[in-house]
Amino acid sequence: MEKRRPIIIGNWKMNKTVAEAVELATAIRNVLGSVPHLDVGIAPPFGALWPVAKRLEESKLILAAQTCHFEDGGAFTGEISAPMLSEIGCSHVLAGHSERRQYFGEDDGVVNKKVLAALKHGLSVVLCVGEQLSEREANRTFEVVERQLLGGLADVGSDALDRLVLAYEPVWAIGTGKVATTGQAQEVHAFLRSKLQEKYGDLAQQIRIQYGGSVKPDNVSGLMAQPDIDGALVGGASLKADSFVALLKYDR
Ligand code: PEP
Repeated sequence: MEKRRPIIIGNWKMNKTVAEAVELATAIRNVLGSVPHLDVGIAPPFGALWPVAKRLEESKLILAAQTCHFEDGGAFTGEISAPMLSEIGCSHVLAGHSERRQYFGEDDGVVNKKVLAALKHGLSVVLCVGEQLSEREANRTFEVVERQLLGGLADVGSDALDRLVLAYEPVWAIGTGKVATTGQAQEVHAFLRSKLQEKYGDLAQQIRIQYGGSVKPDNVSGLMAQPDIDGALVGGASLKADSFVALLKYDR
C-alpha cells in the first residue's frame, strides 16, 4: 500500500481583503518547492477566490472554498454553487466545518447534499467532523463522529474516494489554543479509519484524514508523526505567512 501523501490546508475563514489574500497566497506559493512531499492548500473567503486563482495559475497550491450550496443554481440569495466554484478555479471545497454546523444550522443531511453536489461537479471534498466539549465529556465522541462521518458520506460511492479528504476537528480545540493530545487525536483518527474500512474496505487506507484544532508550528510535528494523521486543517496559524510556512516545514 502506497504511503498517504500528507495534505495541509489553511482555512482563512472570514478574513483577508483581496489584496491581503493575493499577497498571502503568493508567499505560500513561493515556498512550495521546499515542501515537495506535501499537498498544500488554502481556503480564502469567496471574494478573494477569483483573484487568488488568477495569481495561482500554473501553481500546485490547492485552492479550496470554505463551503458551497448543494443546488447548481437558483433563488438562494447569498449562496454559491459547486459549478461556480469549479469555474473560478477551485479544486476543493470544505463541507461540514463546525462553524457551519454551529452558526448556520447545517446538519448531516445538508452536509451530505453538499458533499454529493461537490463530487458531482468534479470538486474534491474536505469533510469535517468533530465533537463538542460536552459530547467528549459525556463519552460520546465516537458516537458523534461516526454519525457525522456516515451521514456526510451517505450515497458516496467508492469511485469518489480519491476526491475525499476527511478532517477530524474537535470543536473544543478550534480557535481555543487547546490542541487535542496526539493520543486523543490518533485514537479518533484510527476509529474513523476503521469505520471507513467497514464502509469501503481496503480503499479506506488511501483516504487522508487531517487533524484540525489549534495546530501551530510547535505542535504540528507530533501530530503528523501519528500513524493515522495525514495532514492538518489550520485556522489561526494559516493567516500569517511566517506561521503557516513554519508549520509546512514541520520536522519529519
Ligand atoms: C479550523 O477552523 O478549521 C481550525 C482548525 O481553526 P484553528 O486552527 O484556529 O483552531
